[in-house]
Amino acid sequence: SLAVRDIHLAFGSNRVLRGVNLDVPRGGTACVIGPSGSGKSTLLRTINRLIEPDRGDVLLDGRSVLGDDPDALRRRIGMVFQQFNLFPHLSVLRNIVLPLRKIRRLPPDEAEALARAQLELVGLAGKADARPGQLSGGQQQRVAIARALALRPQVMLFDEATSALDPELVKGVLGLMADLSAAGMTMVVVTHEMGFARQVADTVAFMDRGVVLEAGAPTAVFERPEHPRLRRFLAQVL
Ligand code: ATP
Ligand code: MG
Repeated sequence: SLAVRDIHLAFGSNRVLRGVNLDVPRGGTACVIGPSGSGKSTLLRTINRLIEPDRGDVLLDGRSVLGDDPDALRRRIGMVFQQFNLFPHLSVLRNIVLPLRKIRRLPPDEAEALARAQLELVGLAGKADARPGQLSGGQQQRVAIARALALRPQVMLFDEATSALDPELVKGVLGLMADLSAAGMTMVVVTHEMGFARQVADTVAFMDRGVVLEAGAPTAVFERPEHPRLRRFLAQVL
């Protein structure tokens, strides 16, 4: 399970996170929605410690991760970004092999076998030797997901993983994420895809100005929103 406890973070005088709480049981999927600038990306970054919070805690299976070595933590918490962040000069296969070598410290042959198996699982076995630039955005994002999954994380974080994709490619990536959720991965998904949140999430958390203003089951959040700010947001995006 993942628990975010009262996270505070300021950039100078800009208080971006003002006491965020979020609970994701093991195997659960939480979708985080909310207006631009509300702190969604910053929240994900504090969870896997790309940024250290000023205050608060992140618990993985009940244990605080804030004292852990950040690299060891990133092995347990995978993250997928809007802009894929693949290494452009490496083949698709090498992109997956590299973190297996560096982070999981697998021997070369084992890393390569695992990378090929993971590529197959996302339907891209035939693209192993291509460069990322030769792939469609949807395929690149599937490589990024495969790269994160190859490390066998306990939790996966997705930050608007489909926002940079052409509309016809969105479905494939959302389908892969839905499969992962159904297979029991613990996930936090920042998304503008309300259909995905409604269908896949166990919990939907609405963030506004650095706090989770309302959270609950998708049916409650989408059909019986309580907070006026959430009602206004949904009126704009639905
Ligand atoms: P969007 O939906 O547009 O992606 P968001 O909810 O992800 O928005 P964040 O990217 O978390 O929002 O940004 C929240 C606030 O934090 C914004 O005011 C932003 O300008 C500020 N911010 C984010 N990262 C930094 C940084 N590295 N340094 C300074 N300010 C930052
Ligand atoms: Mg963001």
